[in-house]
Amino acid sequence: MSFVRTVRGDLDPALLGRVNYHEHLFQVSPLLPGDELDDEAASGAEAALLVASGFDAMIDATPSGLGRNPEALARISLAAGLAIVATTGAHREAHYPTDHPIRGLSASERAERYLDELLHGMPRRDVVRNEGAENGGPRNDSPLIDDENPRASDDTGAPVRAGLIKAGIGYWSITPFERATLEAVAAAHVETGAPVMVHLEFCTAAHEALDLLAIDGVPADRVVLAHADRDPNPALHLELAARGAWLGYDGMARPRTRSDAELLDLTSAVVEGGASAQILLGGDVARRTRYLAYGGMPGLAYLGERYLPQLRARIGTDAVEQMLTANPQRFLAWSGPSRAP
Ligand SMILES: [Zn+2]
Repeated sequence: MSFVRTVRGDLDPALLGRVNYHEHLFQVSPLLPGDELDDEAASGAEAALLVASGFDAMIDATPSGLGRNPEALARISLAAGLAIVATTGAHREAHYPTDHPIRGLSASERAERYLDELLHGMPRRDVVRNEGAENGGPRNDSPLIDDENPRASDDTGAPVRAGLIKAGIGYWSITPFERATLEAVAAAHVETGAPVMVHLEFCTAAHEALDLLAIDGVPADRVVLAHADRDPNPALHLELAARGAWLGYDGMARPRTRSDAELLDLTSAVVEGGASAQILLGGDVARRTRYLAYGGMPGLAYLGERYLPQLRARIGTDAVEQMLTANPQRFLAWSGPSRAP
């Protein structure tokens, strides 16, 4: 039977309810100074606001090495009544300082690590920098799990596992670091059938990323292109959808770069083009200065309370409901092991 892997165990996809495909409850990156999400009480309070805005489940899209907190995710999931799918893999290279321990890992070492996080559990503490070097000590290439950093477990003692694998690439750029991540993500997918997310900068190199993943055995219909809406070109989106890829729309509430009006136009055009069954919706708010519970705004509830009513008025309630339920249920269900061609 197919399942979705959450931080508190596996779920029947049909029981997921409404899914926000892209948020972050914990994230620490040198690219986002002052925007650290690292306070469990505040992140838990924001998660409760997300639930109150009409969501039952979310993907925590923070991959390894950026301050994930798996045990806190499990606690927040329980307290908020929110199913949470955690993420393994790596972000685009720019998020990792030059001394970050994960930079030293080969593609096969990364694959081993991602698989371990999917199958056996994530480490309790996520390494965010090379603490050894910072203290004048030796480079810290600590293994995934050791005595000092055991596997994360929930209140029942069960391991907290990842349910999705992520890679990130740059603006028309795939560095050797990012290529190694894509290879490792593909290897972990082929072993498990876990869903794959690719972070894109302004939707550039989407075809190229899908090509590289396909060569390594990941079909496009197992991949969501995160931030696809940052290039609001319906023709491009329909081409990507024709290949089978999922389109991640998560750029609402950013009028400085693009009005919600453009996102509504894009979504409407892609639905008219026949690809409504391949759209996933999330907020990717991602910054503490944008979280109500951290003292910022507009918060994770913006999507459900402000944006979705406008989207429903444009494309209808049924199409929106499909994007929140049937689509993510299909995307998140593990498809089982496969063999690379
Ligand atoms: Zn994100």
